[in-house]
Amino acid sequence: MQPIMPPPPACRALLATALGLAGRHRLPCHRAPLAARLSSGAGGEVEAAGSGEAGGVLRHLLLKLRATGPVTVAEYMREALTNPGQGYYTRRGGVGEDFITSPEISQIFGELIGIWYISEWMAMGKQNAFQLVELGPGMGTLTGDILRVFNQLASLLSKCDVSIHLVEVSPKLSAIQAEMLTGGKVQSNPENKSAYMKGISKTGIPIYWYRDIQDVPQGYSFYLAHEFLDALPIHKFQRTEKGWHEVLVDIDPEVPDQLRFVLSPSRTPATENFIQPEETRDHVEVCPEAGVLIQRLACRIEKDGGAALIADYGHDGTKTDTFRGFRNHKLHDVLKAPGTADLTADVDFSYLRKMAEGRTATLGPIKQREFLKNMGIDLRLQVLLQHSRDSATHEQLLHSFDMLMNPKKMGDCFHFFALLPHHRVVRPTKKDNPQSKSPLPPVAGFGELSLK
Ligand code: SAH
Repeated sequence: MQPIMPPPPACRALLATALGLAGRHRLPCHRAPLAARLSSGAGGEVEAAGSGEAGGVLRHLLLKLRATGPVTVAEYMREALTNPGQGYYTRRGGVGEDFITSPEISQIFGELIGIWYISEWMAMGKQNAFQLVELGPGMGTLTGDILRVFNQLASLLSKCDVSIHLVEVSPKLSAIQAEMLTGGKVQSNPENKSAYMKGISKTGIPIYWYRDIQDVPQGYSFYLAHEFLDALPIHKFQRTEKGWHEVLVDIDPEVPDQLRFVLSPSRTPATENFIQPEETRDHVEVCPEAGVLIQRLACRIEKDGGAALIADYGHDGTKTDTFRGFRNHKLHDVLKAPGTADLTADVDFSYLRKMAEGRTATLGPIKQREFLKNMGIDLRLQVLLQHSRDSATHEQLLHSFDMLMNPKKMGDCFHFFALLPHHRVVRPTKKDNPQSKSPLPPVAGFGELSLK
């Protein structure tokens, strides 16, 4: 564990007011061996669950493959994760069961993200309304922790009209989010809204649920995607002596009802579109859905203002084969029992940067441990430790801090990346704006937290 250094005095006071001493009512559970979805190989042995229980998705895929031949990895992943009847997220979405995420590990994580949004809202002129839009909210824990910070800072936000907009495909997870955030008091299919559900948070803030980002109303918004982009379908490509081929999923002719990877016999439309001529790697993964999403967010931010904060494991265009499955906190063969395990691939931040180019500025990726340190995690830990009543809580706090910050755990492999309006990071030239003298405040997390 890293030594706990005192934070700069300026952010000390604000963090103390913003975060108070309040915590979640429950502390995160830590059942060994809880594994975050780290890089391939980090989770130990591969668990190859029997395909017998796979049922729906496998049966559906076998019929399709027999009728029309191999499918892309992207199509396979989409069916396995979000098939409307049997997909992994549609049916269960195992946050906590199959993998653990930072907001589930410690309340501090969500609290510091809440501070990030307040800090950017202040730096960008304290607009009188904003939407907080979370993509893939899981159990709703992160939004819950952010709402607690907004509630602590009610006096600061008193003239600001805040609303929450959750983009979630899983009926099961949206029901869990509704229970966590509103106590279950929600209305389905509200009139005159593109939302499929609405409710009021326990702190009195309206919350809406959607299936797609395009259903979320336009307007000044702060976006959040934590461990969301890694769940979007990827295409995989392999360089061979005869050039680039796309990796496809097919039925194994030797073993009944078993799937295998094959290479496309010739170039596919995806090979033409996604492999750059200057590519030097032999194996490449591309997530076009993530690219489209970033373009949409960048367009919205350019037009209406706001910012997006994206946090995930990933790389800057350097890694090759990162596609992997998780079930019951263990690595799981991606082709076995689709629909019963989480499938995921590292996010390529260099691709996201390219997709935002021209519309917004981007910051990062910066390592999670650096981002959280810049946000004042050491101070928050100190405050909670000082007020923890028993040694078990004390130990729990230190353990979760270590999970989030240790370079060998989540500290180095998770990264933060932001989209911001150009004017937030680059002052217009003196010629455009001769009055401007003061320097722009740093963007918290990527620089020091100042909150003036
Ligand atoms: N952000 C949460 C959960 C991450 S798991 C956390 O960090 O704990 C991924 C989340 O994205 C789940 O809520 C899942 O149901 C949702 N999801 C996956 N694919 C999606 C899609 N295509 N559209 C909307 N939500 C999706």
